Amino acid sequence: MAQRHGLPRWMTEAELRTILDNPPPWLVQSRANRTGKRPVWVHLECAVCGYEEAARSKKWWPDFTYVVCGHHPTEDIPPVRAGCVRSEYDGVGTRFVGIADVEAPPVRP
Ligand SMILES: [Zn+2]
Repeated sequence: MAQRHGLPRWMTEAELRTILDNPPPWLVQSRANRTGKRPVWVHLECAVCGYEEAARSKKWWPDFTYVVCGHHPTEDIPPVRAGCVRSEYDGVGTRFVGIADVEAPPVRP
């Protein structure tokens, strides 16, 4: 196996350390496969100006209805949908605010 990847049969400790510090692509790949985890990238696009970014999704992110750049004034942001309650989440990607419009629970008379 080692030979298949072109490694010498014996390595000094220093050589081994060099390889572990600078892992060749096939080693990085096999390590990534071992964890069974893949980073999930999501595509973020500002609902106001169309600025786009790819970001790693975070566990705490809900399903955003919109994402908008943090610098847009409130009046530029699409209004909350009828019957929905809006929550805003700062710190999405490098510059976005995530907006989640969630259907409000029915109001009892
Ligand atoms: Zn924007």
